[in-house]
Amino acid sequence: MNEYQITAYAKINLGLDVVKRLPDGYHQVKMIMQSIGIRDELLLEKAGHGVTFTTDSEELPADESNLACRAARLMLEKYRISGGVRIHLQKNIPIAAGMAGGSADAAAVMKGMNRLFDLDAPLSQLMEYGVSIGADVPYCILGGTALAEGIGEKLTPLPPIPACRILAAKPDISVSTRYVYEHLDARGIPCHPDIDGMEAAVRAGDLPGILCRMANVLEAVTVPAHPVISTLKNRMLKLGAEGSLMSGSGPTVFGIFTDPQAALSALEQLQKDGLARQVFLTEPV
Ligand code: ATP
Repeated sequence: MNEYQITAYAKINLGLDVVKRLPDGYHQVKMIMQSIGIRDELLLEKAGHGVTFTTDSEELPADESNLACRAARLMLEKYRISGGVRIHLQKNIPIAAGMAGGSADAAAVMKGMNRLFDLDAPLSQLMEYGVSIGADVPYCILGGTALAEGIGEKLTPLPPIPACRILAAKPDISVSTRYVYEHLDARGIPCHPDIDGMEAAVRAGDLPGILCRMANVLEAVTVPAHPVISTLKNRMLKLGAEGSLMSGSGPTVFGIFTDPQAALSALEQLQKDGLARQVFLTEPV
């Protein structure tokens, strides 16, 4: 095999809690993660030496700092691969949006190179290496529905959530994950989301039980800085979403619908509203 094509899926956080700030500046979190159908496509090809990277995105660095390149370098080093790899990234996942697009690309490169170079490495090992690139990379390697603890790298796979439609809207602002965590008062969180209850609801296939526990403590930082997030949440609820939340550190807002027709009408309405630059109607993966 000389080339391998792989899809990288975005994620949303159905619930996001911060347990405490750790001495090294990281945060101990407790989150319910869900892959969704917004996707990047990556083409990996064997090449002479090192990592060559191209992308159709004008907003992304095409150098060493790209997480896809960093993942490829890590794989070449860890598995002592003598050849190199050429990567082309077709970017669709909104950037700096709270949907882990960069981590998803890194995860896809690691999984793809595992196949391309016949490494036969277990996913658990890729996940262990992947955390050095980003705390969300191990989850992106696993995918699906999962409980994430520690700094996000301690994962418990969960059964798929019940069928639903997910409307995701990214306003025309970018939010730095680092800024949000640095400005979070981890000791002053007034009310922690019920992540244990949400995990039980996921296990029971209880969508109303999931919806009523949707909460994200990072909204306390991002929403005051960008009130459009709150406007979008309210708009989605008004348009028939049964739950609506900011994903990750934002600014993407998602709404969950059980009625496909309502979801479609909400998509059309949001596209007309102009509150968000990018709007997607998708499903859990
Ligand atoms: P998270 O939800 O994990 O916090 P995010 O969705 O907020 O992530 P990303 O889209 O992963 O954010 O991008 C964060 C930063 O990483 C951006 O500043 C971007 O320039 C950089 N970056 C590097 N490589 C990539 C990549 N392949 N895709 C997206 N962003 C990348």
